[in-house]
Amino acid sequence: MDKNVQEKLFTGMIKFTPPLYKQRYQFIKDLVGKYKPKKVADLGCADCTLLWMLKFCSCIEVLAGLDICENVMKEKMHRLSPLPGDYLQPAERSLTVTLHHGSVAHKDPCMCGFDLITCIELIEHLEESELEKFPEVVFGFMAPTMVVITTPNSEFNPLLPGVTFFRHPDHKFEWNRAEFQSWALGIARCYDYSVEFTGVGPPPTGMEHVGFCTQIGVFVRKYSQTSESVHFEKPTKAAYKTVFKAVYPSLKDEKYLQNAVVSEVVFTAQVIKRSLLAHLKSEHEEYNDSPAEIKSKFQHSKNCVSEDPEKLAVERSMEPFVNGNVVYIPLTKIFSFPKVNQLCGTFDKLCKLITGKVTLSSDGSAVMVNTEHENEEEEN
Ligand code: SAM
Repeated sequence: MDKNVQEKLFTGMIKFTPPLYKQRYQFIKDLVGKYKPKKVADLGCADCTLLWMLKFCSCIEVLAGLDICENVMKEKMHRLSPLPGDYLQPAERSLTVTLHHGSVAHKDPCMCGFDLITCIELIEHLEESELEKFPEVVFGFMAPTMVVITTPNSEFNPLLPGVTFFRHPDHKFEWNRAEFQSWALGIARCYDYSVEFTGVGPPPTGMEHVGFCTQIGVFVRKYSQTSESVHFEKPTKAAYKTVFKAVYPSLKDEKYLQNAVVSEVVFTAQVIKRSLLAHLKSEHEEYNDSPAEIKSKFQHSKNCVSEDPEKLAVERSMEPFVNGNVVYIPLTKIFSFPKVNQLCGTFDKLCKLITGKVTLSSDGSAVMVNTEHENEEEEN
C-alpha cells in the first residue's frame, strides 16, 4: 500500500496505553531499577511528577529537580514532602529532595556528582543559544555517570491526529531519528560518553519504518570521575535558586534510630512479659489457684531464685523472670529478637541507644516492666 495512504489510515487511530508520558517515566523507573543510582536529577522537571515517582525507589538517596519555570515546579511540589507515615516509620535509607529554579544553560555546582540525569522532553523547548550550551553544561560540567534524553521523533508526527507542524507550540524544533542521533553521537564523542538509542510509543503494525513516537538516547560516561579526564574547571558560584528542600527521616539519623530502637525494645519487652505471665498463669491454673494466689505467685515466679533483683541480674540468664511486681527481661533476650537485632547491629549499640530512655535494672542488664496493670486486669 502507498505510504501516504497508509499514514492517512492510521492518523486519528493512535492511542497509547499507558499514555506516552507514563511510558517515558516507566522507562526511567526501569533504568533506576536496573542500575540503582543513588543520586538522580531531572532537568526540566516541570510539575515534578517524575521526581515524585522516583522518591519511592529505595536506592535513591538524593533527588534534585531543575526548571526554568518556578511556578510550574511549585504547583505540586508539596507531593515531595515527607508524609506522617515517613516519620512514624523512618526508612532505612536517607533521602533529600531539592528543587532548583534555573536554566540548563547555566552551570551550578549543586548539579555535579549525580549518577543519573534525565532530560525528558526538554531539549526541544530550548532556544538555539541554550541548546548550544546544553552539552557543555550537562556532559562537560555536570558530567553524571548516565544521561537520558528523550525528544519527539518527527517521523511519527504524520500518524498523530491534529499534528500538522510541531506537537507543541513551545517546541523550537522536532528532529527525525537521523538528526537526533547525529547530535547525540557528536556529544558522546566530544565528552567521552557512549550512547544507545531506543524509544517508547511503538509504531502500529505496518508503519514500523517511522520508529518510536518518543526517541530516547541513553548516554553512559566512559571515564571514571576521579580520573584526570574531568575536563573542565568547576565554578563554585551558585547560578540556581533553591525553591524547595525536604530531608526525609531516616534510620541513618541517630535521633530517628534511637526512637525506633526504644519503641521496638518497649514493644518486645511487653510481648515477652505477656507471654511469661500467660505461661505462669496457665501453670497455676492447672493447680486451681485463686486469682489472689496467682497474683502472689506472679510475684515469686519459679524463675525467681533470689529476693534481691541486683543479685538476680548478676545471675542473669537469657530468660526473663518476675520479682515482686516487676518482670526483668535480659537485654540479651531482647537483642535476640530479629527486628531489634537488625536495627541495632551490635549489642553495645543497643545498650547505648536505650540508656536513659528505658527503665533498666541497676546493672543495666535487663529491662524492667511493671506487672501491676496486668494483675489488676486479672482481678477485674
Ligand atoms: N520533563 C517533564 C515531563 O516529561 O513531564 C516536563 C517537560 S516540559 C515539556 C519541558 C520543561 O522544560 C518545562 O517545564 C520548561 O519550563 C522546562 N524548560 C524549558 N527551558 C528550560 C531551561 N532552559 N532550563 C530548564 N528548564 C527548562
